[in-house]
Amino acid sequence: MHCPFCNAEDTKVIDSRLVNDGNQVRRRRECLACSERYTTYETAELLMPKIIKRSGRRKPFDEDKLRAGLQLSLEKRPVAVDDLETAIDHVKQKLRACGEREVESSQLGEWVMDELRALDQVAYVRFASVYRRFEDVSDFHNELTRLQQSKEATTS
Ligand SMILES: [Zn+2]
Repeated sequence: MHCPFCNAEDTKVIDSRLVNDGNQVRRRRECLACSERYTTYETAELLMPKIIKRSGRRKPFDEDKLRAGLQLSLEKRPVAVDDLETAIDHVKQKLRACGEREVESSQLGEWVMDELRALDQVAYVRFASVYRRFEDVSDFHNELTRLQQSKEATTS
């Protein structure tokens, strides 16, 4: 890159080290023309895709909002904070790894529900009931019945 002081093209790297838990490379550079020194940081570009809402609007992924929704679903449930954070990390990994620039909010919801289903069944139903905005009561009932059956299948 050009020197920020004199705009010369030739700079040399005089020091290079990993920072931020190895997620970033910090480079100390020196301009060959004016001898000024400056620092650059290099990070792998792993962009979070935008979320496509039902209305068609695009919004940035909001981790705080997701966490708040999950905490609400997990209220008074025996789930450790660490497990919740791991679930959030899994969702973020899926978002980044999908390689899309935009992801439907329904897809995001499915990923979140996959995590919740593994964490806590009650929290899962709470979240699902809000997230899916069940068209009518029978849908919600079907979901509960399905859960009940899978529970019986695992306990018997
Ligand atoms: Zn320079």
